[in-house]
Amino acid sequence: MSALDIIGDDLKTELPGGETVRFTYLDYAASAPCVRAAAEAVAELLPRYGSVHRGTGVRSQTSTVAYELARDVVAEFVGARPGDEVIFTRNTTDSLNLLARALPGGTRTILFEGEHHANLLPWPDPVRLPAPSSPEQALAAVSAVIDERCVLAVTGASNVTGEIWPVRELADIAHASGARVVVDAAQLAPHRPVGLDDLGADYLAFSGHKLYAPFGAGVLAGRADWLDAAEPYLYGGGASATVGDRPGDLTWAVGPARHEGGTPNLLGAAAIAAVCAALLVADRDALHRREQDLLARLRDGLDGVPEQSLFGPDHPRVGIVSLALGRHDPARIAHRLGREHGIGVRAGQFCAHPLVRRLLDADRADGCTAPGAGLLRASFGLGSTTEDIDRFTGALADVLRS
Ligand code: PMP
Repeated sequence: MSALDIIGDDLKTELPGGETVRFTYLDYAASAPCVRAAAEAVAELLPRYGSVHRGTGVRSQTSTVAYELARDVVAEFVGARPGDEVIFTRNTTDSLNLLARALPGGTRTILFEGEHHANLLPWPDPVRLPAPSSPEQALAAVSAVIDERCVLAVTGASNVTGEIWPVRELADIAHASGARVVVDAAQLAPHRPVGLDDLGADYLAFSGHKLYAPFGAGVLAGRADWLDAAEPYLYGGGASATVGDRPGDLTWAVGPARHEGGTPNLLGAAAIAAVCAALLVADRDALHRREQDLLARLRDGLDGVPEQSLFGPDHPRVGIVSLALGRHDPARIAHRLGREHGIGVRAGQFCAHPLVRRLLDADRADGCTAPGAGLLRASFGLGSTTEDIDRFTGALADVLRS
């Protein structure tokens, strides 16, 4: 038994013929299933929680200690430096919106159109660069526009192609010009170490529910100065230090509390921290090798599947593949995979409409794809097996043929 075992991995589903099979979940990029460490952290707190930072007595005190301990573990997970802070949020979308509202006036944000909408839309003064076709092109495009009044907001790994972006190299360019760097690590954190310094990030955002914890909590980590100077993102208790009798007569808290208005989500924070703690002591190289083996097997399996084209480079990428399906409608194929084969994948544009449009346009230019609404995505992680991969490629070939 390991802290990183998936719970509920033996979930069964019934096929139309009456056969019961193990459900094959290949939608980790949307929400990963929960690992034992997170489930145990929640179970341990359920009988004893109380309000964090509010109240006396053993429940409240235990909860406050557990919450701040969770923050310390996440700080270690992201390699927080002096001057960094860890804020618990709802998810990556919340983290990036919070930061976008904390930027000093006049800051422009440089980003690529290939970003997930959570990193495409929140920024107040965005400069949108075309999705690059190579790392070199990405570096050149950023070099050409960045200066010290900018923030570069970049994904660590694409939720569409699985491609790992050259974040470190981009960050070096940004820092050389005096700009700061925000990394959307929603898809990177479940697959690779996400040290702020290693990535060259000033800020990092990720979601618990993609990191094998349940829903409802996320993280924004990074440099405290702008965050401590900014108006809180949520007005309310916890965020305010003192409130006078007249409207506007108030002072805001300094530190993470400033941006954690309202009663903190202790269970969410503890679940994320438990996964972070388990990953900190895990053999990440072994997990990485296993993921790359599954990716290679998936690519090999897809070679035998007609009428599909796969996007993104072989390396470096995480366990995410998106396919165009020729004349077939991806939504219908995904539905059939679920109903007829007990396989959960996702179809559509994955909250990255500009990128998916570009990929489909390129595919059509190759004469491959009929007008269609999107792509089919399979994504995997800690609980995935070679059997899952083989079932997917076999079932896909089957439904595309019939
Ligand atoms: N960024 C990326 C790269 C994502 O894949 C996602 C989720 N699909 C998000 C941001 C947003 O995450 P959440 O929905 O948890 O806020």
